[in-house]
Amino acid sequence: MSDCLFCRIAAGSVPSAKVYEDDMVYAFKDIDPQAPLHVLIIPKKHIQSVLQAGGENAPYVAAMMDAARKIAKDAGVDESGFRLVMNTGADGGQTVDHLHAHLLGGRSLGWPPG
Ligand code: 5GP
Ligand code: ZN
Repeated sequence: MSDCLFCRIAAGSVPSAKVYEDDMVYAFKDIDPQAPLHVLIIPKKHIQSVLQAGGENAPYVAAMMDAARKIAKDAGVDESGFRLVMNTGADGGQTVDHLHAHLLGGRSLGWPPG
C-alpha cells in the first residue's frame, strides 16, 4: 500500500535504521525508543493488524517470531529477557495500521503496562 508508512519503510522509500531483513520481514529501530533496545518487526506484506494475521498470513507471523529470536540473540538480550508487543486497535494503542511487533529489551520492563 503506497499510502502506508510501514509499507514505504519496508520498500526503502522512507528511510529507517535497518536491524534485520529477510524475504518476508523487515526490522528497524523505533524512532521513539522506549527501552535501550526497541525494534519494530514488520511483514513485507501489508497486513493491517493481528485481526488479519491468520490463514494465508500466518507464515508472516511465524517469520516475525523467527526474526525476533535472531534480533534478540544478536542484541544480547536473549539471556536477560525481552518483551514482544503487538498493539491492536484503539484501546491497544495501535497508531500505525500495518502489523508490527515491538521488541523491547535492555532494561527491566514494568508490568502491568499503562
Ligand atoms: P504502535 O503505537 O502502532 O504500536 O507503534 C508504532 C510505532 O512506530 C511507535 O512506537 C512509533 O514510535 C513508531 N514510528 C512511527 N513513525 C515512525 C517512523 O517514521 N520511523 C520509525 N522508525 N518508527 C516510527
Ligand atoms: Zn502497510
